[in-house]
Amino acid sequence: MTINAEENSVEKKSLNFIEQIIEEEIKNGKNGGRILTRFPPEPNGYLHIGHAKSICLNFGLGIKYGGKTNLRFDDTNPVKEDTEYVDSIMEDVKWLGFEWESEPKYASDYFDKLYEFAVLLIKKGKAYVCEQSPEQMAEYKGTPTQAGKPSPWRERPVEENLRLFEGMKNGEFEEGKYMLRAKIDLASPNMHMRDPILYRIKKATHHRTGDKWCIYPMYDFAHGQSDYYEGITHSICTLEFEVHRPLYDWFLDQFVEPGAYRPRQIEFARLNLSYTVMSKRKLLRLVQEGFVTGWDDPRMPTISGYRRRGYTPESIRNFAERIGIAKRDNLIDVSLLEFSVREDLNKKAARVMGVINPLKVIITNYSDDSKEYLEAVNNPEDESMGTRKVSFSKELFIERDDFMEDAPKKFFRLSPGTEVRLRYAYFITCTNVVKDENGEIIEIHCTYDPASKGGVSPDGRKVKGTIHWVDAKNNLDAEVRLYDRLFLSEEPDDVVEGHDFTENLNPESLKIIRAKVESFLINAEAGQQFQFERIGYFCVDKDSKPDNIVFNRTVGLKDSWAKISGK
Ligand code: ATP
Ligand code: MG
Repeated sequence: MTINAEENSVEKKSLNFIEQIIEEEIKNGKNGGRILTRFPPEPNGYLHIGHAKSICLNFGLGIKYGGKTNLRFDDTNPVKEDTEYVDSIMEDVKWLGFEWESEPKYASDYFDKLYEFAVLLIKKGKAYVCEQSPEQMAEYKGTPTQAGKPSPWRERPVEENLRLFEGMKNGEFEEGKYMLRAKIDLASPNMHMRDPILYRIKKATHHRTGDKWCIYPMYDFAHGQSDYYEGITHSICTLEFEVHRPLYDWFLDQFVEPGAYRPRQIEFARLNLSYTVMSKRKLLRLVQEGFVTGWDDPRMPTISGYRRRGYTPESIRNFAERIGIAKRDNLIDVSLLEFSVREDLNKKAARVMGVINPLKVIITNYSDDSKEYLEAVNNPEDESMGTRKVSFSKELFIERDDFMEDAPKKFFRLSPGTEVRLRYAYFITCTNVVKDENGEIIEIHCTYDPASKGGVSPDGRKVKGTIHWVDAKNNLDAEVRLYDRLFLSEEPDDVVEGHDFTENLNPESLKIIRAKVESFLINAEAGQQFQFERIGYFCVDKDSKPDNIVFNRTVGLKDSWAKISGK
């Protein structure tokens, strides 16, 4: 199923299934009406648009039901984690407009508690130190239809387990020599219940606990308990964790009284976007193998990439609201995200004129050394944004595409003998076309009607069209980065054996050109957003320097891909 903008134009929806659950619980007085959700990223990469959906959901529920939301870093794998990721995640959550409860939390805050709990399990005869290799373990685990066989170490005496586990903690053994496993049920149809690993030896430096630990808990062992320790009421996660739920419950059953408080896990469908890859592992490859310039490359589906590209937090939040919460996996059309961006920028972005493929126009009846400033509206959607003066003179640039020498009937722009309106300026009529020795058009000659100042018809006569322009004697030459979708195929992940998702990259996802824009843009600051009239939304890139202003194309004014894919 693909959801696109047209089908999804309903703004306010009824309650989603998670809200229904929560409202029912509040009615029944569960947890005394207390709501505490959390967003639990692993700090092993930058956040992407899928995470944004989870953030909007978790923080949104906190806000809607007068509760709170924790930010917790699930940092159980020191090898892949880094403070760079921690910092970027905090920046991104804040930028999206959300505030977490007090200080950020870390699964590593609970390493002592988790260790004690593991010792308790050993003492209860519910965990043991195992020496099987990964291959042996896989073999002994059986298959979903065939029960597993017990590891030869499954019945190791409690005292010996305690001693070995302590030795593991103290760094007495090599990595891989031992691991701690829960003793649950080798015949369970749920493979996660077949004596899962709780701890492995890792002699790695942790970004927060340094070299204190030589053993680290598995994600499954840390996650549910962390939620419990923090008093999380609703552990919202993606569908693939549904099969882990019995294991999380089993852990809590070992020390939580029946009927007492415990977090409730609710699963929802992860966001999949067309023309996009979302796995952090693949995004990391794009960065490491140089297909993009970094995690914040404006073509990346990361929050930092979108921010740099000019997407607004509101547009991402509106997108998350529009697509809603589903119980089954689906594929969302990326044009819906682009629609949300246009919708928001239409209200906010100041209009300017910029010519990205310039063609010189000479106004033959305009005096050589005159110039004037014409009034232009900054945003027709928002009067409070005021007006500005745009410089006009005898020589102008227009868009090459806005001129055709042999124009078909339906061409409503400039061609020999026709009259068009220069936005905010004058009516002009093309009188002559100048070409170079190769027949290439280099210049257009026009006359203007001084009585049409401001682009207003002096006598009720109509013109075919209105085009944008920039003063050729007074403008800014800027670098423009025309970004397009990073992948050519709708589901770039969907590759057959022997092929790689990188083969689906769009070779034209970035074109760098030079453009002529209104001269005042020399003072534009990184992050500022504009609509180049009739072209699209652009924002100033962080690479911008006083002697080279750089614009990123955020999104075109129209969905140019709709035509191509025949929608
Ligand atoms: P990836 O598969 O990209 O590595 P992950 O699930 O391993 O993602 P985490 O850092 O563990 O990444 O994710 C933090 C939270 O964001 C989790 O609760 C996870 O369920 C949620 N999340 C991750 N990807 C998506 C997605 N595509 N849609 C919705 N939620 C997501
Ligand atoms: Mg994960």
